[in-house]
Order: sequence, then C-alpha cells, then structure tokens
Amino acid sequence: MKTRALVAGALLAVGTLSSAPGALAQQKYITIGTGGVTGVYYPAGGAICRLVNKNRKQHGIRCSVESTGGSVFNVNTIKAGELDMGVAQSDVQFNAVKGRNQFKEPFVELRAVFSLHPEPVTVVVRKEANIKTFADLKGKKFNVGNPGSGTRASLDELIGAMGWTIKDFALASELKADEHGPALCDGKIDGFFYLVGHPSANIQDPTTVCGAKLISVTGPAVDKLVKANPYYAYATIPAGLYPNNPQETHTYGVLATVVSSTRTSPDTVYQVVKAVFDNFSDFKKLHPAFQVLKPENMIKDGLSAPLHDGAVKYYKEKGWMK
Ligand code: GLU
Repeated sequence: MKTRALVAGALLAVGTLSSAPGALAQQKYITIGTGGVTGVYYPAGGAICRLVNKNRKQHGIRCSVESTGGSVFNVNTIKAGELDMGVAQSDVQFNAVKGRNQFKEPFVELRAVFSLHPEPVTVVVRKEANIKTFADLKGKKFNVGNPGSGTRASLDELIGAMGWTIKDFALASELKADEHGPALCDGKIDGFFYLVGHPSANIQDPTTVCGAKLISVTGPAVDKLVKANPYYAYATIPAGLYPNNPQETHTYGVLATVVSSTRTSPDTVYQVVKAVFDNFSDFKKLHPAFQVLKPENMIKDGLSAPLHDGAVKYYKEKGWMK
C-alpha cells in the first residue's frame, strides 16, 4: 500500500515537473530516541514528531519516536548513525562533548538543537520505609537506574561526591524507569532515583497507587556538585504536585536537551526546529512539563555541543541569533 502510494506520488511529481510547494517531496524517515514511555522524553519526542508530520506533504519528512533506555543510549546510538536525533540530559551532553565519565572520547560531531524542560533529581521512597534523607538510603534496596540512562550517570556522580559506592546499598537494582514504580509499590525496592520532568505519569503512578513519597536531595555533596559543574542547578518540585505529597521537595538537577549530529542534514534539523517553533503555543500544550519553556532560553541553556547548522539557520531567520 505504502509503496504504491509512493510510486503514484513519484509519477505525479514527474508528470507535473515541478518543485512548487505542495509537490510531493521525496519521503525521508527520521527517528528520535527518547526514554521510557511513562517519562517525559517519550511524549516530548511524540510532540515534536506530531508537529513535523503535520507538514509532511511539504517537506517529505516522516518522523517517528523510539522508546529507549535514555540519554546515554541516545547519544551513543546517534553516534553509531542509528538514530537521527535524541533527547539527552544536559550533563550527558556536556560529558559526551568532553569525553568525560561514561564517554571514553569526545564526540566531536555531536550537535545541540534546543533544550527542553528541567529534570530535577527525583528520589521516591516507600511510605513505610522510614527514609527521610538521601543518607537514609544506606543499606536499603534502591533502584539506581538502567545502564544507558542519564539517571544512572547522575546517580554515579552523586554517590561519588558522597564517597559512597553502589555497594552502600543492600541492593542496587537496575530496573528501567517504566518498572521502578510498580517495583516500589510491590515492596521489591525501598526507593528509586530518576531525573525526569514534572509532572510525569511515572511519578504520578506510585504516589497515587501506594502513597509513595518524594524526598529532598540536599547537603554538602549536592552543594559541591552544583558549585563544580555548569550543568547542575538547584531545583524545587512544587508542593502538592503529586498526590500524598503536600510538601515542597528541594533538590538539584539538569535540563533535557535535543541533540543530533553532523550526520543528520541541516535541512532535516531545520524542518524539525521550524515545526516546533512555528507552532510553539501548540507545542507547549502537548505536555504539562513544557509550560515553563521559552524560546530564548531553549536556544542556549544547557547546550554545550555546538548548535546544529540547521538549527542556526532557523534561529537566524527569526532574529534570535546574529
Ligand atoms: N532523564 C532520563 C534519562 O536520561 C529520562 C527521562 C525521561 O524519559 O523523561 O535517563
């Protein structure tokens, strides 16, 4: 069916010998790497693709999202040429550029496109576990995040700053983000660690189902990390955002960013950026975590890789950049 439609389109294009707007451009498929389906990356990718696909007839790009293990996986898979774009934490972007922490060497072809919502370090614990601070997690069953997630990369950095290792937990499970809420409510783990935008379905579920509690993540190790690293900032999760959590939660965090590489053509990235910013008020409505977004911040905050040429072209056209 699809093949026949494409052939008909090609014949039509030849028949009219035109590249006027509305003529069928060649189909091009792009995939955006995201995260677990209950997080914010997945709906963020969905929102971007939805706006791109609205104008498919003009530009010929068909965008789809893939649920993945998260930031580090997305960056590595873009590097391997198997994803065109992806969402990644700003700390992961920074470390990929520098060849630091999880990255053995600098990823020089990595390109920034724009940043999205803040992602506070979010620690959720079982109501009955009697855990009030991060230090109380010593000797507990804690989900540290799956390998390949940005969450796990940030956990490693935090416990490193505290002088802990993974062995300080009685169990350091590596469940994916979509699995940690159910595991918590089943009593298989005492808490989990997650860098995610708010509100998100992933946190809504365990706070509703079993009254799970968000705890603050503060103290000397956090102060040290925020001071030493440009990608960290203090963050607050508002009081009452989730059921059974009337308190304000004090923590720190990063920004979610959209990245690509020089392998993805400037035209493709231009069309993606144009779809988002030409329809910005629609875009913001596609997820509650996007409420805070402002274009002037999105084109610079949290971006350590050079901007992609296709993004620069759009930002200059808008007069947002010189
Ligand atoms: N920040 C998370 C990670 O990279 C993903 C969050 C999400 O999927 O919204 O592991």
